[in-house]
Parts: sequence; structure tokens; C-alpha cells
Amino acid sequence: MAGLDAFADITKRNEPLAPYTYFKLGGPAEALIQPTTREQLSAVVKHCQAERVPLHILGGGGNVLVRDEGLRGVVLRLSGPAFATVEVSDREVRAGCGASLAAVISEATRHGLAGLETLVGIPGSVGGALRCNAGDRANEIGQHVRMVEVMDERGRIDQRERAELKFAPGSSNLDDPVLLSAGFELDRDDPDTIVKRMRKAWIQRKANQPLSFQAAGRIFKDPRGRSAAALIEQANLAKTRVGGAEVCDRNANFIVAHPGATARDVLRLIELVRSRVQEKFALELELEIAVW
Ligand SMILES: Cc1cc2nc3c(=O)[nH]c(=O)nc-3n(C[C@H](O)[C@H](O)[C@H](O)COP(=O)(O)OP(=O)(O)OC[C@H]3O[C@@H](n4cnc5c(N)ncnc54)[C@H](O)[C@@H]3O)c2cc1C
Repeated sequence: MAGLDAFADITKRNEPLAPYTYFKLGGPAEALIQPTTREQLSAVVKHCQAERVPLHILGGGGNVLVRDEGLRGVVLRLSGPAFATVEVSDREVRAGCGASLAAVISEATRHGLAGLETLVGIPGSVGGALRCNAGDRANEIGQHVRMVEVMDERGRIDQRERAELKFAPGSSNLDDPVLLSAGFELDRDDPDTIVKRMRKAWIQRKANQPLSFQAAGRIFKDPRGRSAAALIEQANLAKTRVGGAEVCDRNANFIVAHPGATARDVLRLIELVRSRVQEKFALELELEIAVW
């Protein structure tokens, strides 16, 4: 990847990705690039397209498992301030896709704007939340999106309007190479009432998810009309372990990584869960997390 020399000051070669993900597992990226301006970002994207260099975008790493061998090509992170602004105007919150979802929720709440507060406690960035339509059965980020600014593989900026966007549980049709920023249209409400709803949602979320363990988001999508967590529990797989990876007992659709775990342990546990659920219910579980 000699052509990347032009980006040397924003590139880390052979950079371990584990610290950038919630699982804290997996090997290095051939190049981790953290642009500081849109022009730099566009030049990197264009270069990768022209030279056929594989390109991945990493947000907060809450929904990604990196394989132990790491990955070829470029991993981009929108970690600079140019990609993380959060601004409020009337009932709209406009946020860079590198901003944390938490920052957007707290800014909206401060301005008495309601809608996103029950997403509190979901780790990660605005970009990752949009791509994965972060949320739960009661509320998803997609419901509040007015527009999304994106970058195509040639580094050109475009805008997707509400009418073009499709959101499903755990996914969206936002498959453009880079999501840059988004506008959320929210409702006015009393800040104290918003905070009360936020506290309640926080308590509920924390009661149903792994606490103080290394983990990622939900491993599998819910099959139509069923809950992946319930199927895994009914297959008696809660607390099943492969190496340092264990099915979480609070919510069986999470896997926690104990000290010494490898990405391979997690992948073997995923296959074990899949095959047992297939045997018992004749249902194939589809992955929700991204495996790189
Ligand atoms: C403990 C825990 C609890 C969780 N609870 C929930 C929950 O209740 N509900 C829920 O929905 N999720 C949950 N998650 C999963 C995860 O936090 C969310 O899916 C989150 O929205 C992912 O955002 P991220 O920035 O971490 O994305 P990443 O994991 O970094 O990336 C996810 C995907 O989005 C893509 N992506 C990220 N940013 C961009 C961008 N700017 N442009 C283009 N593509 C991009 C990546 O390429 C990847 O394909 C949980 C995770 C953990 C660890």
C-alpha cells in the first residue's frame, strides 16, 4: 500500500484494532487512518477505490468482531473533531457520524428535545447507530432521522432524504461507504420528563445486558416473530463456554470475552450456538454483529 504515503501523518501501520472495539479482541489493521478533514477523508476513499484497497469504517466498535489475524487494507475512523460536531437548531439535532450517540442524546435533552433518550446506554457512534439502526423493540434511531449525508466510493458527498431511507431491526439501507452526518427531527418536551424516561430506559437496558465484561452487541438478529435470546436459552446454551468466550447469562444473545479469550473462541462459540439452535428449532440464526 505504498500509495498511502501521502497520508502518512494520519496513518498508523499494522495497528492493533482490539483497543478500538468493545470485545477488545482481534488482530491489527494493515493501516488505520484517522482523517482530520473531509478533504482528507475524500482523498483516502478515492485512493482505496482506485487502487482496489479494501476499506472498512470503524465507529465505536460496539458491533464489530475483528478476527485474530486482523485485516488487509484500510480501516477508517472518523475520530477527529471535524466529524463529531453536534448542533441544535429549532427541533433538529444535526450530528457528525463520528460523534458518540451519548453526546447526541445529552445535547438533545439539554435543549428539551425528545425521541432519542430511551436509546441511552447503547455504546458507539452516530454512524454505527444509523448503519445498525440501533435501538430496541420500543424505539429505534431510524424513526427520528430526517436526512443523512454520505460519501460515495469516489469521495463525493451526497444526501439521502427520509423518503429514501429504510430501517429494519438491526439494519438499514444506508450502505454507502461512509456516513458523514445526520439530521434528527425531535419533539419538544420538558427536560425533567425526558431525563426521567432516560433513567428508566438506562435501568432496563443495564438489567438485560452484560455488565462490566468485554462484549459486543447482540450476536444474532431476531428471526421473524421470535427472540434469538429466548431460542438460545431454550436450547440450554446460557453460560456455555468455548475457551474464554461465554454465552451471557443475563441475555443469551450476548457473548462475553473473559481474560485470555480470542476472536477464534467467539467464532467457535457462535458456530456452536447456531448449530444447536438449528438442530432444536430448525431455524438458522443470522449474524447481527459484523465479523471482520
Ligand atoms: C454492551 C453493549 C450493549 C449494546 N446494546 C445495544 C442495544 O441495546 N441496541 C442496539 O441496537 N445495539 C446495541 N449494542 C450494539 C452497538 O453498540 C450498536 O449497534 C451501535 O450502534 C454500533 O455503533 P458503533 O459506532 O459502535 O459501530 P461499529 O461497531 O464501529 O460498526 C458497526 C457497523 O457500522 C459501520 N459503521 C460505523 N460507523 C460508520 C460510518 N460513519 N460510516 C459507515 N459505516 C459505519 C461499520 O463499518 C460496521 O459495519 C450494544 C453493544 C454493546 C457492546
